Amino acid sequence: MAEVLKGKPVADAMKEELKQKVAALKERGITPTLGIVRVGARPDDLFYEGGAKKTCDVVDMAYQVFEYPEDISQEDFEQAIIEVGNNKAINGILMFAPLPKHLDEKKIRTMIPVAKDVDCLTLGGAAKIFADDPTGFPPCTPAACMDMLHFYNIPIKGKRCVVLGRSLVVGKPVAMLLLREHGTVTICHSRTLDLPGVCREAEILIAAVGRAKMVKANFVKPGQIVIDVGINEDPDRPGKYCGDVDFAEVEPIVEKITPVPAGVGSVTTAVLCKQTIMACELQNA
Ligand code: NAP
Repeated sequence: MAEVLKGKPVADAMKEELKQKVAALKERGITPTLGIVRVGARPDDLFYEGGAKKTCDVVDMAYQVFEYPEDISQEDFEQAIIEVGNNKAINGILMFAPLPKHLDEKKIRTMIPVAKDVDCLTLGGAAKIFADDPTGFPPCTPAACMDMLHFYNIPIKGKRCVVLGRSLVVGKPVAMLLLREHGTVTICHSRTLDLPGVCREAEILIAAVGRAKMVKANFVKPGQIVIDVGINEDPDRPGKYCGDVDFAEVEPIVEKITPVPAGVGSVTTAVLCKQTIMACELQNA
């Protein structure tokens, strides 16, 4: 039986620390504020937004929602983003993506000020992560993976880390963060040969493929730490969701594993607030 690494205790501890940081900023007359930019009203976005607002309330920081109609023109949305970016009251920006297809998302991303890019939507933000610049903010999910490892005292230095997935949102940044902490990192993707064999080599395995229960018993071995980033519809339980790891097969084999739900996903809004507070501190240093 593996130790199941839940996200809630990680998020709770982080929120306690954040409350103190917010109180210290408020004593200086500063209220850290998250700007949430949303086009339309996709249920997933609204769900995440609800969680982000709740976490802001818990840590006593502020948020403002900037909501735009689904059919907003490129020109109007560019203007809106410039205004949010220039808004001195906003310290960090969360913009839901993908944007509707008629909008040039690549261009709009470049208009977010890097100093307020708390979810790594800009290339400038990504460059900071790849350059180990401590003023950069990784996307919240890879940062949450690292917070899980730290909270549960899992050593990274010198460990063999395998990251399954190479997206800019999860795979690549989490690989860079592991490397920063001296892990020996392998990144796998859809063209990797002998995927189960490579994953079995890992001491820390991070699964971020977006394929329900793809990581089976033959991908793992005893002693491993498995961090499951996946959020997929569960093919066996309609209406529920599951990870990229087949928990029922893998959990009896490995040493520690994060569940889905209640794992990494429970930490991401706390990370979003943490990074907004950090941005606020840097902007007011
Ligand atoms: P993505 O952009 O679709 O990337 C998936 C990656 O997995 C790609 O690099 C792809 O390889 C690789 N891959 C796909 N099928 C594969 C296969 N059969 N064998 C080997 N590699 C394969 O997904 P993502 O945005 O990184 O998200 C990954 C998962 O994390 C999803 O389940 C998503 O819902 C979840 N997620 C969770 C959170 C959270 O808060 N917990 C946040 C973001 C994402 P190629 O590059 O070769 O195509």
